[in-house]
Amino acid sequence: MVKDTSASPGSADEPFDVLIVGAGISGIGSAYHLVTQLPATRFAILEAQESFGGTWLTHRYPGIRSDSDLYTFGYRFKPWVGRPIASGVEILDYLNEVITENDLARHIRYGHRILSAEWSSATNLWTITAERGKGGGLVILAAKFLWMCQGYYDHTVGYTPEWPDMAAFSGRIVHPQHWPSDLDLTDKKVVVIGSGATAATLIPNIAPQCAHVTMLQRSPTYFRMGRNAIEIADQLRQLEVREDWIHEIVRRKILFEQEALSKRCFDEPEQVTQELLAPIRDVLGPNYDLATHFTPRYRPWQQRIAFVPDGDLFAGLNSGKASVVTDEIDRFSQDGIELKSGKTLAADVVIAATGFNLSVLGDIDFVIDGQPLDFAQTVTYRGMMFTGIPNLVWVFGYFRASWTLRVDLVADFVCRLLAHMGAKNANKVEVSLRPEDRDMAILSWIDLENFNPGYLARGVHLMPKRGDKVEWQHTQNYWAEKDQIPAIDLDDRAFVYR
Ligand SMILES: Cc1cc2nc3c(=O)[nH]c(=O)nc-3n(C[C@H](O)[C@H](O)[C@H](O)COP(=O)(O)OP(=O)(O)OC[C@H]3O[C@@H](n4cnc5c(N)ncnc54)[C@H](O)[C@@H]3O)c2cc1C
Repeated sequence: MVKDTSASPGSADEPFDVLIVGAGISGIGSAYHLVTQLPATRFAILEAQESFGGTWLTHRYPGIRSDSDLYTFGYRFKPWVGRPIASGVEILDYLNEVITENDLARHIRYGHRILSAEWSSATNLWTITAERGKGGGLVILAAKFLWMCQGYYDHTVGYTPEWPDMAAFSGRIVHPQHWPSDLDLTDKKVVVIGSGATAATLIPNIAPQCAHVTMLQRSPTYFRMGRNAIEIADQLRQLEVREDWIHEIVRRKILFEQEALSKRCFDEPEQVTQELLAPIRDVLGPNYDLATHFTPRYRPWQQRIAFVPDGDLFAGLNSGKASVVTDEIDRFSQDGIELKSGKTLAADVVIAATGFNLSVLGDIDFVIDGQPLDFAQTVTYRGMMFTGIPNLVWVFGYFRASWTLRVDLVADFVCRLLAHMGAKNANKVEVSLRPEDRDMAILSWIDLENFNPGYLARGVHLMPKRGDKVEWQHTQNYWAEKDQIPAIDLDDRAFVYR
């Protein structure tokens, strides 16, 4: 392999001020804030894939769309003008506009998968080793600060559990994260394993061409049915109100309503459950077994409530082209799946909509002053920084609200922190537990009682720890953080500069 160490800027002699990892919605948004808030910053974005978009580039299954409305999943600085639930292609178009309008393309280096990041306190620099495409050699780059926008899951392999006798199945087993372009579902018997947003999106989109689609779920998910439209946005457009005003007004309305719903989920979960089920009952009729198929065992909001725009999933069930089975897989057979109840499901194609493999810090090997980093031994500062890891911030968005709300908030924080370091002439910043934190309880990353998606439950032992004080937690509470993050005192003793 060729070692390219001459890259400049980005060489040790001319290090980047900031290196952004990942050109998904987080990386592109962060770059926007950097060029607008700190325009003199020298930076690059390294992206493993050959284009931008992250999640929206990787996922190509039929019907791929957002689950959140784009007024809040879009950035605060760029109005969303389409229908609130957007297709993957519409999201990519929106990101492309942000790149073009802000001249970001020249900063992005595609086909650069970062393999390792080594911090040296002697030079106060990160040395990054990236692999350029397949067989394209290694690139060594130097940067003063790492802005981690690499998401939370492995883009290269989706999560498929090992079921007994999978090899005996004569049909095809597909993961939606790797949708084969040659997959022909015409007149096929299809089983979709899973109950989340991906299954709910896929089923109405493939059902018309299939002989039949069965959604096989171990346990149900909460679904919220609604129109893919926001009345107030349409009214304001009729009145020819400026799009940036509409964006802000609609964002505020949605966030106000989401906060109220979030609170009610804790205070009166039973009432919320009934409200979520009522419109589904209206579509499926009084005899449909909602208790078995659409009433989860957990509280609403312990996992994301999946939105079903215009009730398309339920219309598919009504048409007879799709059905739901709530059961457990015993084993695969040559012709399909045998269930623990003793029933069998015949299948030509099985789609495992079974989620993701958690990827902590982009699967990059981190080394701090010669010592390999065990991320699980660190404690997080508000889910953004980590004890013992200098000059690094991670963007980890919200689950209950749109991920991107946090991209904007964290970006303001990073820009403020970089400016503060400049003003102090500091080359290094690190968070550290203060004397008053010494007896603090150290807990796992997230309270799984409060929020428990499968990939986090499977990987929580790999994640950093949290404390029992709000500043040492990743609270997942947008409504608190929108005030707390801008108010962070950068001279608090939790920040150690050098
Ligand atoms: C199908 C699907 C639908 C979703 N819908 C919603 C929704 O409606 N609302 C919502 O809030 N959230 C949703 N999410 C969660 C979603 O992933 C985030 O909201 C958001 O897109 C994440 O953006 P990101 O840029 O942080 O990460 P990603 O989209 O994961 O992008 C990270 C990028 O970093 C790159 N990268 C990773 N490691 C490295 C490395 N070592 N070197 C170089 N590059 C690297 C990856 O290639 C990738 O391009 C959805 C997720 C999925 C899978």
